[in-house]
Amino acid sequence: MTLFPTLLYNTHMKCPRCENKVLCEFENEGVDFDFCDQGCHGVWSDHGELAYYLETEKDLPKSRDFESDGIGSEMACPRCETQTMIEISYLPDQGPDIDLCTKCGGIWMDFKELGEIQKLAAHLDNGGKIERGIKSLFAQLKSRSR
Ligand SMILES: [Zn+2]
Ligand SMILES: [Zn+2]
Repeated sequence: MTLFPTLLYNTHMKCPRCENKVLCEFENEGVDFDFCDQGCHGVWSDHGELAYYLETEKDLPKSRDFESDGIGSEMACPRCETQTMIEISYLPDQGPDIDLCTKCGGIWMDFKELGEIQKLAAHLDNGGKIERGIKSLFAQLKSRSR
């Protein structure tokens, strides 16, 4: 386990939250996350990466019909660029709203949302893995945030 995120390189992806900031890629326990190092400290996870990292079946703990449950987000997907994401709560009707791209399945989480997800996971059935994983990720991001 690394103590500090290793910034591998600047990606070509723009932060969906900040104007003119490029995401950096870093590795945390075998998974590459894209992170807004110079701006809002939000984090991007490609489809399946969060599940792989958390050792869960899906990126989100409960599957839903995203098309009908989500509301339009003002942010464009950093991966697909022209695709607008949707806002959807982390759990059905519960937790912070994360942004999801229905085209590529990637997820954007604001920095403060990670802390809320960590707290929420503590109350989930089998949420221990999620709580630990998010805690580790959050700690890494915090160590970089000034
Ligand atoms: Zn940003
Ligand atoms: Zn996308």
